[in-house]
Amino acid sequence: MHEMGIAKSLLEIIKREMKKSKVKRLKKVRVKIGELTAVEPEALRFCFEASIKDTDLDGARLEIEDVPLTGKCHDCRTRFRFHHFVSLCPVCGGKKIEKLTGTELDLVSIEAV
Ligand SMILES: [Zn+2]
Repeated sequence: MHEMGIAKSLLEIIKREMKKSKVKRLKKVRVKIGELTAVEPEALRFCFEASIKDTDLDGARLEIEDVPLTGKCHDCRTRFRFHHFVSLCPVCGGKKIEKLTGTELDLVSIEAV
């Protein structure tokens, strides 16, 4: 289950940032997850909560922002959302699609006191 690995590496970053900022209590963490990462938001939330249970970070909330897979057609410049990796432009049928969003796995913000 690769969500556990992601939760653990998120927590590594969070702990490092908290130490740097000399804060003790983690309140909220916000992450962005692109559709293409195949990360299950609920699985990640579960792993995150399991990892912080009975630690200093217990009680923190994880907010997940889902980012859909979108692209832009190189030929007609249409921006669109694509589904199931079918990468043809829905307007002109073009094959040159530039990926815009959907691959991110970002820690957006940490709220701690
Ligand atoms: Zn097009």
